[in-house]
Amino acid sequence: MVLDDLGSSLRGTLDKLRGKSRLSEEDIEEIVKEIQRSLLSADVDVSLVMELSDNIKERALEEEPPAGTPARDFVLRIVYEELVDLIGESTELPLEEQTILLAGLQGSGKTTSSAKMAWWFSTKGLRPAVIQTDTFRPGAYQQAKEMCARAEVDFYGNPDNDDPVEIARNGLEATSEADVHIVDTAGRHALEDDLIDEIEDIEGVVQPDTSLLVLDAAIGQGAKDQAQQFDESIGIDGVVITKLDGTAKGGGALTAVDQTDSSIAFLGTGEEVQDIERFEPDGFISRLLGMGDLSQLAERVERAMEQTEIEEDDWDPEDMLQGQFTLNDMQKQMEAMNNMGPLDQVMDMIPGFGGGIKDQLPDDAMDVTQQRMRTFSVIMDSMTEAEKEYPKAIGASQIERIARGSGTSEEQVRELLQQYKMMEKTIKQFQGMGSDKEMQRMMQ
Ligand code: GDP
Repeated sequence: MVLDDLGSSLRGTLDKLRGKSRLSEEDIEEIVKEIQRSLLSADVDVSLVMELSDNIKERALEEEPPAGTPARDFVLRIVYEELVDLIGESTELPLEEQTILLAGLQGSGKTTSSAKMAWWFSTKGLRPAVIQTDTFRPGAYQQAKEMCARAEVDFYGNPDNDDPVEIARNGLEATSEADVHIVDTAGRHALEDDLIDEIEDIEGVVQPDTSLLVLDAAIGQGAKDQAQQFDESIGIDGVVITKLDGTAKGGGALTAVDQTDSSIAFLGTGEEVQDIERFEPDGFISRLLGMGDLSQLAERVERAMEQTEIEEDDWDPEDMLQGQFTLNDMQKQMEAMNNMGPLDQVMDMIPGFGGGIKDQLPDDAMDVTQQRMRTFSVIMDSMTEAEKEYPKAIGASQIERIARGSGTSEEQVRELLQQYKMMEKTIKQFQGMGSDKEMQRMMQ
C-alpha cells in the first residue's frame, strides 16, 4: 500500500535520531530524501512530493523543537501533520438522505464500489439503492444486480434502455423509498469527450450531494489528468481508492486527492461487498507509516510542548546537570514524566540522557513506576521548602512527621530519599563527565 516503504525506511532513518534532542541539517536532509524516495516510488506526483518534502524541511529547520522534546518525536509530528494536511479528513458523508454519483475509468471498480457503499450505508441503518447507468460495458448491469442482491440493497437498472440519463431519471423515481441513492456511471478505457458529456448530463439530472472519483490503487501519474478532468466537469468531492488489497502503492490516488482538493471517502479492500472501509486519516497514516498510533504520539508531543512552555520559566531539564540537584528538581522531573509518558521516553527528552548515556544508568535509576511517582509526589508535598532544597538534613523525626502528614509510611519516605540519593549520585557522575567530548556533543 502507499507509503508502505516509507514506513520502514523512514522508521530506519528516524531511529537513528533516537536520543538526539536537536536535529542537524544533515539529519533533516536525510529524512526528507527518504520521504521523497518512497513517495516517488509509490507513484506520487513529483511536484506534490517536492511540495510535501519542502514543507517538512522548512518546518523542521525553522521551528524550534520545544525543550525536552526528542528530535525523533518532533520530526515525526511534522511529517504526520504534513501528511494529514495533504490527505485531509475523510470525505464528509452524513448518515442521512443523500445522492452520491460515482465517476471513474472503466475497470477502476465503480460498479463494485457502488454495491459495497450501499452495503456500508445499510449497516448504518439507512436504506440505500444503487442505480446502474452504465450502458456501455456489457455485463455491468448483471454484475451490479448480483452484487446488490448479495448486499441485500435496492437496485435499479434497465438493460433494454441505452440512454443513461433516462435510466438515471427513472432510477431515482423507481427507488424513491430509499434514503441513499448511489448512481454508478459508465467508464471508458480512457477519458473521452463523450464520456465527459454523458456524465455531465447525468449529473444534471441526479443533482448529487457528493461526487466521488473511483480510482484503482494501481493508477500512477495518470491520476492527475483524470482527476482534473472529472473535477472540471462535475466537481469531485472525494476519492474511493479500490484494490488496496493488492500490491499497488496507491500514490496516484494521493495525487488525485491533492489535484481535486478533495479527500478520501472509502477504501476498497477486496472483491466482496463487505470489503470496504470508511477512510480514517489517523489510522490510515499510522498504518501507512507502520507506526502505532501516530495521532496519539502527535498529541503527546503537543501536551509535552504545552507543559514545557509552562515549566520553562522555572525548570529546565538541563539545570539538573548543573549545580545542586534537589528534591524540587526531582519532583519537577517526576511531574514532567507524568505529563509526558513513560520514563524511558522522558529520558530521551532530556538532552544528554538519551541513547548510550541512558543505557549506562543503573537499572534501579529507571525503576520509577507511575505509582511510585505519585506516592513520592504526595510525600514531597508534606516537606518544607528547606527539606526539599537540602534533603540530607532530613532525619528520623522529620521522616516520621512527613509520613504522618502525607498519610504514607516511614518506609515509603525513606524509599523516596534513597531514590533521591541514587539520582543525585548519577547526576554527579554526569557532571563529572562535563569535560568529556561525547558528553558535550550530546548536550549541544
Ligand atoms: P468498473 O468498470 O469501474 O465498474 O469496475 P468493476 O467494479 O467492474 O471492477 C473491475 C474489477 O476490479 C472487477 O473484477 C472487480 O471485482 C475488481 N475490483 C473492484 N474493487 C476491488 C477491490 O477493492 N479489490 C479487488 N481485489 N478487486 C476489486
